[in-house]
Amino acid sequence: MTTMESLIGLVNRIQRACTVLGDHGGADGALPTLWEALPSVAVVGGQSSGKSSVLESIVGRDFLPRGSGIVTRRPLVLQLHKTEEGQPEYAEFLHLPKRKFTDFALVRKEIQDETDRLTGKTKQISPVPIHLSIYSPFVVNLTLIDLPGLTKVAVEGQPDSIVQDIENMVRTYVEKPNCIILAISPANQDIATSDAIKLAREVDPTGERTFGVLTKLDLMDKGTNALDVLEGRSYKLQHPWVGIVNRSQADINKNVDMIVARRKEREYFANSLDYSHLASKMGSEYLAKLLSRHLESVIRARIPSISSLITKTIDELESEMDHLGRPIALDAGAQLYTILELCRAFDKIFKEHLEGGRPGGDRIYGVFDNQLPAALKKLPFDRHLSLQNVKKVVSEADGYQPHLIAPEQGYRRLIESSLNYFRGPAEASVDAVHFVLKELVRKSIGETQELKRFPTLQAELAAASYQSLEKFREDSRKTVIRLVDMEASYLTVDFFRKLPQEVEKAGNPATPTIDRYTDGHFRRIASNVSSYISMVSETLKNSIPKAAVYCQVREAKRSLLNHFYTQVGKKEGKQLSQLLDEDPALMERRLQCAKRLELYKNARDEIDAVSWAR
Ligand code: GDP
Ligand code: MG
Repeated sequence: MTTMESLIGLVNRIQRACTVLGDHGGADGALPTLWEALPSVAVVGGQSSGKSSVLESIVGRDFLPRGSGIVTRRPLVLQLHKTEEGQPEYAEFLHLPKRKFTDFALVRKEIQDETDRLTGKTKQISPVPIHLSIYSPFVVNLTLIDLPGLTKVAVEGQPDSIVQDIENMVRTYVEKPNCIILAISPANQDIATSDAIKLAREVDPTGERTFGVLTKLDLMDKGTNALDVLEGRSYKLQHPWVGIVNRSQADINKNVDMIVARRKEREYFANSLDYSHLASKMGSEYLAKLLSRHLESVIRARIPSISSLITKTIDELESEMDHLGRPIALDAGAQLYTILELCRAFDKIFKEHLEGGRPGGDRIYGVFDNQLPAALKKLPFDRHLSLQNVKKVVSEADGYQPHLIAPEQGYRRLIESSLNYFRGPAEASVDAVHFVLKELVRKSIGETQELKRFPTLQAELAAASYQSLEKFREDSRKTVIRLVDMEASYLTVDFFRKLPQEVEKAGNPATPTIDRYTDGHFRRIASNVSSYISMVSETLKNSIPKAAVYCQVREAKRSLLNHFYTQVGKKEGKQLSQLLDEDPALMERRLQCAKRLELYKNARDEIDAVSWAR
């Protein structure tokens, strides 16, 4: 293959791959893609001017529906791929990727059917293109786009807007600066009335990407010729005009084949009195070569910008891949490793929350510094140690015989029943710490970027962590209750020793029995109990936080995921991959991204190779 062929072939392959990926700039006005950066050739002209016929003769194969009236009703993106000599010819539709067509009559039928699938058997049009690839040793590498013909009036069965609709559709293709326009005009009409030239002039005023093609030279009135047009006198274009003689409707009906038609066309020019001096620059074969040569120069000029577009796109795709995360390994060992890595990432963030660096750990201190003291303060000791209650408890403890010196039993009962009140705040602190930790687990999972892809693992990690926290809470609860119970089981003797003795203070050993029943006596008991309780409260205010940190916070830091690790260790390959189950939408996106990346990387390598070979 020459460099020229390989260059255009390369563009074709890239465009083909773009198409397969849905990465083509269709009429739907997708983002500028590689496809649009590459040149393509579109056929423009009035209805029945011979567009489809010209395309067919460039391809050298009968495969397009042709005839009078509106035959082409959807854009046809036709990619010609030149294959090695001796290879079989075949065609392939994008919408039927598994089927290779070797019978070109069936290709034509499929184009008709596929058109009807979208538009129904009407005369309506659709801008959704049909993509067809032809692989053959006899074609030149080219991408051609057949478009519905421009019309002047809507016919029966067409909406009034059809004239404008067709023009708009054609325009979306030909206004792209990379589109080479094959402007088809029939020779049996005045060139001044050519729809093709009119539209081409609008979108390409300098004419640098317009090729004028004059069809139906054989149908001109006897005694007239098209030399004024073909020699550029009627309407000057940058590129020379090419005259064509396609098969007539009668030829088509008689099934005159392409080889014969091409020979007849050659003979027509060679033997024509008017055109024989132009014969070497006329006809479909010449047009194909002209186009392909032009494409080559366009592509050559574009290589640097195409190259940089490819590089830029590769960078974008690479960073999207990074964002999406690389695909997961398939073997169990690697999966286990991945899971443990993810756990570590989460655990690190969780610890940062506790130890600072990330917020949240301070809320645990808040529990000890505000919530616990406030709760202790609110305990209803005033009511419990009211004169009335103290009297009641002490008398009940005394039984039938009132106490003689100090109400030992009464004191104990009052203290024990008061100490019971500490259980509430103690448990509440444990719960509060538990909820802070739980919240931090939730937050840390959300903040672990690497985990984002794995909803199942996220859920399992959360569940396992919550389970551990629950266990820590239970331990902690038992410990703080034990602290409270310990206070109740053995009272601080020193405290009572230091209390001033009523008896001594009274000074008169004859009166204590009377004293014992005065309000003052009970008030003193209440106040002694109360200051004992305050002392205990101070102690618990310090020891409950120690217990909670020891049982919950420290354990969360040390062994939050231990339970999870044992579970994961027992899992088999299949269960492991279930844990790494990704969001299907995300997997799909990565797949698309990877495919695209491969396409662009191949394109880059090929373009590099071609530009070095120059
Ligand atoms: P399109 O609507 O522009 O795609 O036109 P077609 O390719 O379908 O051709 C319309 C009709 O004109 C068909 O019957 C063709 O056989 C006929 N036709 C096209 N080109 C020529 C030509 O150069 N000579 C003759 N005699 N007939 C032609
Ligand atoms: Mg047509």
